[in-house]
Amino acid sequence: MSIPPRIGFIGLGIMGRTMALNLVKAGFSVSVYNRTRARTYEFAELGCATPVTPRELAKACDIIITMVSDPAALDAVIEGPEGVFSAFLGGNTLINMSTVSVEYTAALAKKCHIAGVKFADCPVSGSKPLAESGKLVILAGGEQQTIEKLKPVLLAMGCAVVYAGPAPCGTALKLCMNLIVAQMTTALAESAALAKTMQISPELIFKVLDESPALNCGYFKAKKENILEQEYPPAFALKHMLKDTRFMLVEAHKTGLALPVTEAVEKLMAKSYNNGYGDSDLSVVFKTLGGDYNDRGMITVMKNR
Ligand code: NAP
Repeated sequence: MSIPPRIGFIGLGIMGRTMALNLVKAGFSVSVYNRTRARTYEFAELGCATPVTPRELAKACDIIITMVSDPAALDAVIEGPEGVFSAFLGGNTLINMSTVSVEYTAALAKKCHIAGVKFADCPVSGSKPLAESGKLVILAGGEQQTIEKLKPVLLAMGCAVVYAGPAPCGTALKLCMNLIVAQMTTALAESAALAKTMQISPELIFKVLDESPALNCGYFKAKKENILEQEYPPAFALKHMLKDTRFMLVEAHKTGLALPVTEAVEKLMAKSYNNGYGDSDLSVVFKTLGGDYNDRGMITVMKNR
């Protein structure tokens, strides 16, 4: 019988918190680290160790999972004298689940290889509600054998593991998936803004989406309340999708591939970010389009037409 791994989880934000909780619920021995220490308190109450540096965490764990904002955040927890790498002696495993750039992931994979650390490039598809219900889809890059071995850990946080190829293929696939999500969001926001300008209630858009066997989709449902209530509590912060959109464009530009719609999405998201909405849910682009205005006088059904 193999000894269960000791897991160290870094990054208890919107996604990481519930992913780490699901690992605890699945019975794994989990230690956690978060820059803002207060976010570790609920884990301490559950009996998890909460070391004060990533290095201390890594010293006591076999598998380290990172779920932080971006490349700068990942650098902050893995590099330097208090970083994860300073504690690795070889034989450990690093699973990065944050969405970073393809270049960053490739460099990290190389660094792990040189240090004798197994590396899994495992960003996730799915937002806060799917993280809560343990139904994320894990987009896995790395050695296939490593990914197979990690499946019990990965499937404690998700419902499926899709193997994409060696690192950075997990990250590359993640960017392809987020291209769809970014455009679905802006398509929904533009549709609702157009509806309002024509005196049609956006509620009707959601009614049609709900009724349509082809367009009835969980993602649109997840953004319905945001658009209709004009409130944007973050499930996926706009700043993170803006980062991802820029990573997509970097990859496209490398080969001269034109992504005109993604370029336009990046501009809209950048405008929204510059308006101060980086921490809001990405559906806040509806507000930036001018769709988010008072409903007075809105015709809610087309009975008058
Ligand atoms: P989030 O709520 O903004 O949390 C970010 C985490 O990164 C927090 O734990 C934060 O620590 C930490 N962090 C940021 N800067 C840091 C630094 N310089 N040093 C150390 N730690 C730092 O983000 P999230 O929504 O959980 O997303 C995490 C990652 O998953 C991102 O790469 C995102 O693109 C990706 N993702 C998100 C979703 C989604 O729907 N939310 C879905 C799929 C993938 P503090 O608590 O101290 O701020």
